Amino acid sequence: MNAFVARLHFDTDVGAIHDGPRRYLMMRHDVLMGALARLDSALLATVLQAFTASTRQHGGDSIAAYAREQGLDRLLDITCNGAAALGWGTWHMVHQAGEALELTVHNSPFAAGAAGASVPMCAPIAGILHSVAEQVLGRTIHVTEVTCAANHPDGHHACHFVARPATA
Ligand SMILES: [Zn+2]
Repeated sequence: MNAFVARLHFDTDVGAIHDGPRRYLMMRHDVLMGALARLDSALLATVLQAFTASTRQHGGDSIAAYAREQGLDRLLDITCNGAAALGWGTWHMVHQAGEALELTVHNSPFAAGAAGASVPMCAPIAGILHSVAEQVLGRTIHVTEVTCAANHPDGHHACHFVARPATA
């Protein structure tokens, strides 16, 4: 079994899913992304930025905890396993020479729930990558979703992200 799935505790007595002190929420992808589809483009951009920032802050707590518990060497694998366990698609993350992290995500639920969108929609994934890159590269980071499957709803595209040190 995926090791991250084994960490999740489904407590139906109190109606909660936890990994240690970290509580998770399970919801339909079309409910979440359908809410964003109701926003005009300016507000959508603001909300996507807020998603990235919130994921970076709160998901970043999880990433920092995993880095402490398991070590930086294992952080990329742990993050990819965690993403798969949580239904965030299959992730392949590579630490490129020249100090960049590249992430390919197949089957992103955020893209799947927003097929036909005209802008990259996987802001939560960008936030997690930001947190991982901060841990691994140890600097101020800039993350871009270069290609999003939501913008190419033909079933043949993955989402591609790049995290690099921010230039001054
Ligand atoms: Zn995407």
